[in-house]
Amino acid sequence: MDYRRKIFAHRNPYDLQNTDSLFFDAVKENLRFHERHCPEYARILRHMDFHTDCLKSVSDLYKIPPIPTLFFKSHELYSIPKDRLMYNVTSSGTGGRQSHVGFDRGSLYHALRMVLGTFSYYRLISPHPTNYIVLGYEPSDHNRMGAVKTAYGVTKLAPALNREYALKDTGDGYRLNMEGVKNALIRYERMRFPVRFMGFPAYMYFLVKDLKESNIRLKLHKKSKVFLAGGWKKFFSEKVDKNELYRMIEETLGIGEENCKEFFGAVEHPIVYCDCKNHHFHVPVYSRVLIRDLNTLEPVENGKVGLLNLITPLVESVPLLSVITDDLAVMRDGKACGCSIASPYFEILGRAGLQDVKTCAAEASELMGGIKV
Ligand SMILES: [Zn+2]
Repeated sequence: MDYRRKIFAHRNPYDLQNTDSLFFDAVKENLRFHERHCPEYARILRHMDFHTDCLKSVSDLYKIPPIPTLFFKSHELYSIPKDRLMYNVTSSGTGGRQSHVGFDRGSLYHALRMVLGTFSYYRLISPHPTNYIVLGYEPSDHNRMGAVKTAYGVTKLAPALNREYALKDTGDGYRLNMEGVKNALIRYERMRFPVRFMGFPAYMYFLVKDLKESNIRLKLHKKSKVFLAGGWKKFFSEKVDKNELYRMIEETLGIGEENCKEFFGAVEHPIVYCDCKNHHFHVPVYSRVLIRDLNTLEPVENGKVGLLNLITPLVESVPLLSVITDDLAVMRDGKACGCSIASPYFEILGRAGLQDVKTCAAEASELMGGIKV
C-alpha cells in the first residue's frame, strides 16, 4: 500500500483531522524502508532503543528519534544507491558547513504534487505571462544550493516573460546587480504584465529601501506578487518587522500585503510551508511539527518555546523522517490565528544561541553514542 502517494495527493492541504491515520501509516512505511535500507540509520534507532512497534498512533510520533539537521552537515546517509539520485541540493549554509541531500524520482514526484497542491490552494498558479525579479543568485552549474533551485522553480508557476537576478552569474562567481533590477522594474511597469518577486526578506527590504531613497514609486500590475523565503532574524541588523516591510512594499511597488506570501522549508525537510492571510505557517497534511524542550528534548505543549522538530514521510533516498533544527519556535492552536485554517501553526522566533546549539548538538551526538557513520 502506498500511503505516501495518498497523503501527497490529498486535495485539502490542511485537512489534518481526516488524514491522521493515513499520515501515521505513511510514517511507519517510511521508517521501515529506511531501517531496512540505511544500516547507519538502523544503528541509530537501535542505539536509541527505539522499536517501530512502540508506534501505536499519530500521538506516538515524538518517540521517533529526531536527527539534528547539524548531523547532516557532517554525515551523508542514503537509503538508496547514489546512482539513483536524480537531484542533489545543498543547504544555504551562511558561513558554516552545508548539508548535502539527494532526492530520488519518487520523492521528487510527491514533492511536486505537494507544491502544486499548496500553490493551487492559495491560487498562486497563474496562466498570465509574468515578469520576474529574483532577489538571489542566477542559477548556474557552479551553484547547487536548494534555495537557488527553488527560486528558479517558482518562476515556472506563471509563464515567464523575463527574469532579472539581483546576483548575476559571471561564470566563476556573482556580482551584485541592483541597478539592473531597478531598471528592469521600470521596464516591467510599462509592460503592464504582472511582476513576481522572490527572495530573502532582507533582500526585499534592501530593494524597497533603495527604491524609496531613489524616489522611485511604481504601480505594478494588480496581479503582482511578492514571495519571501528564508528567515528574518538571521540577516537583520536593523530592526524591521514584517508589517513595516509590507508597508514599504505597498508604498514603492503598489503591491498590497494580501499579495505578499512567505514560505518556510529546509533542505533537510523539503516541505513547502506557505503562510495564510494572517502570515502564519499552519501545519499541512504532508508533515507534523513538534516543539521540543531545549534541554530535555521532550515535546512541550503549545505556547511554549523550544526547538523545531519536523516530521515527514516524503523522502525515501535519505532518512529525513524526523529532523530537529536549531530554530527556536513556538506552536499555537489553529483557532488562535483567526483565518479559516484549523490546523495548528508555528512561529519561528530565531536561532538558538550558539551555546544552546552546541549543547543540543553535543547532546545529540552523545545520544547517538559515538556511532560511526
Ligand atoms: Zn492562519
